[in-house]
Amino acid sequence: MSASPLLELRQLSVAYGGIQAVKGLNLHLNQGELVSLIGANGAGKTTTLKAICGLLEPQSGEVLYQGKGLKGQGAWDLVAQGLVMVPEGRGIFTRMTIDENLSMGAYLRRDAAGIQADTEAVYQRFPRLKERRRQLAGTLSGGEQQMLAMGRALLARPKLLLLDEPSMGLAPIMVDKIFEVIADIADQGVTVLLVEQNAHRALEIAHRAYVMDSGELVLEGPAQNLLNDPQVQAAYLGL
Ligand code: ATP
Repeated sequence: MSASPLLELRQLSVAYGGIQAVKGLNLHLNQGELVSLIGANGAGKTTTLKAICGLLEPQSGEVLYQGKGLKGQGAWDLVAQGLVMVPEGRGIFTRMTIDENLSMGAYLRRDAAGIQADTEAVYQRFPRLKERRRQLAGTLSGGEQQMLAMGRALLARPKLLLLDEPSMGLAPIMVDKIFEVIADIADQGVTVLLVEQNAHRALEIAHRAYVMDSGELVLEGPAQNLLNDPQVQAAYLGL
């Protein structure tokens, strides 16, 4: 692990007009960590991810990535630096084939051999996608679309992967598969920030976690401790 965090939020605040969605958030991810960000609907999780990846401008505070401030950089600049988001709702191109969707993930790369090898690796990870590689992505099930969105993100060679509600709306068996894949991606050295409503699963696979409520951080710590915390169990785990 390197000494300085890969990502650091310092007193990050984000507003939509008069609505203060994120209020003075401090958060960090070390290289190689899988960190979950949990909290109820409207807590500010998606807003936080959007501010990290340049889709929303912070009202105040800083986002530091690899030790440098990201102010003024757009999402494309950040993808080129390995900061990649899989958005809520997946954002795949339904009228393009699976192959074409994956190649969009490699849009900024010029290393044809590397792209081909990474595409093959994605197809090995997700054989269902390989079988259907020439079909339109819109014909895939929700779970398969989530896998495609993750595969596309992997083709950008992420250093930091931001995942927004990857298990949302999926059948239980697909939820299992998605969490397996996330853990595996993290094991391979990609740093992951996981936003999830499924707090139980998100805490089970994470090293550390943060809990947000109404735009503020209310708890943080090793994920295992939060899983065993009575306050978290009552408020977020339905125990
Ligand atoms: P969810 O799980 O429902 O996505 P969240 O924790 O990701 O919740 P955000 O989507 O970040 O929460 O929303 C935080 C707050 O900002 C909420 O009060 C929400 O209503 C508000 N908000 C989000 N997007 C907008 C927007 N485009 N315009 C105005 N207010 C917004």
